Amino acid sequence: MNVYWLKRDFRLSDNPALHYCLKQKESCCVLFILEPSFISAPETSGFHIQSIYTAIEHLSSQGLQVLVLRQEVIEAFELLNKSLPINNLVSHEEVGNLRTFSRDKKVKQWCKENNTHWTEIKQTAVFRRLTNRDERQGYWKEFMYADCLEKPKPDTLSLFIIPEAWQPYQQTLEQVFAGTFTHCTSIQKVTEQAANTVLNSFLFDRGKYYSGNISSPNTALKYGSRLSPHLAWGTMTSREIYQKTQIAKLQYKEMEIADKGKWGRSLNSFTSRLHWRDHFMQRLESAPDMELHPINIAYDALPYTNTANNIEAFTKGETGFPMIDACMRCLNITGFINFRMRSMLTSFACFYLHIDWRVVHYILAKVFTDFEPGIHLSQLQMQAGVVGINTVRVYNPTKQIIDQDKECAFIKKWVPELANTTAVEIIMHEEISVLNYIKPIANKAHLKQMKDALWAIRKTQESKELSRQVYLKHGSRKTPLRKRKL
Ligand SMILES: Cc1cc2nc3c(=O)[nH]c(=O)nc-3n(C[C@H](O)[C@H](O)[C@H](O)COP(=O)(O)OP(=O)(O)OC[C@H]3O[C@@H](n4cnc5c(N)ncnc54)[C@H](O)[C@@H]3O)c2cc1C
Repeated sequence: MNVYWLKRDFRLSDNPALHYCLKQKESCCVLFILEPSFISAPETSGFHIQSIYTAIEHLSSQGLQVLVLRQEVIEAFELLNKSLPINNLVSHEEVGNLRTFSRDKKVKQWCKENNTHWTEIKQTAVFRRLTNRDERQGYWKEFMYADCLEKPKPDTLSLFIIPEAWQPYQQTLEQVFAGTFTHCTSIQKVTEQAANTVLNSFLFDRGKYYSGNISSPNTALKYGSRLSPHLAWGTMTSREIYQKTQIAKLQYKEMEIADKGKWGRSLNSFTSRLHWRDHFMQRLESAPDMELHPINIAYDALPYTNTANNIEAFTKGETGFPMIDACMRCLNITGFINFRMRSMLTSFACFYLHIDWRVVHYILAKVFTDFEPGIHLSQLQMQAGVVGINTVRVYNPTKQIIDQDKECAFIKKWVPELANTTAVEIIMHEEISVLNYIKPIANKAHLKQMKDALWAIRKTQESKELSRQVYLKHGSRKTPLRKRKL
């Protein structure tokens, strides 16, 4: 029997693995395995499990039969293989974390021992075994400009079956997912249909205001593309988004409309981010242990303290810093916050609270519905200042109020105990005590301590040499090495 193993690719359109299976013209079983080790992983939350649930539910409603099991992957393959041998296994390449990497190594071994042929197919412009970083751009273009694969016609989906031998293992989605999440209506809905709706509203309406509005949480939640959970769970590919955006850009260019310039600026800025996406995911693909160590190992010596009180206060949004607390509370309920605020949260946790970025990783991954290991780990390390090839940027959470939420509307929404406090009092919270609100749990002295420790490392010859190597292996080729201050 042939098996298409669903991973983070819950869609029918532009689905290379599905397309490959259809071309074989042989029956195939679509399989999703809900692994207990995924459910209990420190980065997993109900937001992620719910996203998978709704995405599969929608695929089934489109006529794709999916066999869903709740087991570890090898156990599931063993079980199925006993009653009907798995001859061919097809899946997409995954740019995952160490857990999925080590699981996939076991799957490879299992396939070898059981005469199962495993075909892994590319679904993103991230390249395995890339030896020369200078060649990435060429491969990127080739992949991103290749034709997107059409959504299969409904009648062709009849090729995907659950064979009789495996039907006894079939349970309803509700049964398999029982007890794994509490349905939450305030997070984005992750289905292929929702992805199309979000993309259309971005390209033909909201996107005009993208440029200039993605830094403030008051506007970014509306004018950002909001495609991240769809990209993360694979309900739409970045290739499809990129190509549709390029076409929209050309159309706006040809139109005689007043907002032509606005559209051009916004869509250019948006497509740059799609480039960044693959650039950062490539980093994890090429350095899988960046979950454990900074990409510049010299920074492993930073003296994080990981105090339980600080971790708890940060996680709950009870630090006494209004912008930090508003963002964390917003994340805990909605599963989303914009890029600038994610950067601020990370630098605050690492520099003010001395929480290790490896701990911040789990706290934030859980509350990001769009958790994508490659972007997440690369950005955490960048914002914590442990990459060595970027300018160290520490966000001052009070300056972010003035810059991004001057009227404190966002803060008042998420920190209700400040609803009747004036904006100036909120902005002055570090100097004056604010009624009904927690006192700040950290101060500039804590910040200075961590900054000094970081600069002490940054100045050493060893860290400079390591940064040079990091650039050669992982750096963006937009700014040449000789222009960078390492
Ligand atoms: C500490 C930290 C952790 C992050 N973790 C994640 C994560 O787990 N998953 C995730 O998708 N994004 C992550 N980001 C990047 C970014 O914040 C989100 O992609 C963005 O806020 C999602 O909103 P959007 O879809 O409206 O983005 P848009 O601005 O509309 O961007 C479109 C797409 O481009 C990609 N993108 C945007 N910004 C970046 C960036 N700086 N680096 C790489 N790719 C980018 C995303 O796929 C995004 O969906 C993180 C950023 C930081 C600072």
